[in-house]
Amino acid sequence: MVKEDYKSKEEAREKPVVRCKACITRFEVTQDATEAACPECGAEWRISWPEPDTPYIRGSK
Ligand SMILES: [Zn+2]
Repeated sequence: MVKEDYKSKEEAREKPVVRCKACITRFEVTQDATEAACPECGAEWRISWPEPDTPYIRGSK
């Protein structure tokens, strides 16, 4: 009899991040944000969410 080892669901929950297309810094974006500015170089990006937890840079603002 195999006992399944169910761990708690408290997996390290990654925050949604994108990678700046200008300086390749990865930075967090607010969930469901439609735009975000890179903290490193200040570039502003339009964000879309192809999946609920996965932001994607659509292009510059
Ligand atoms: Zn940047």
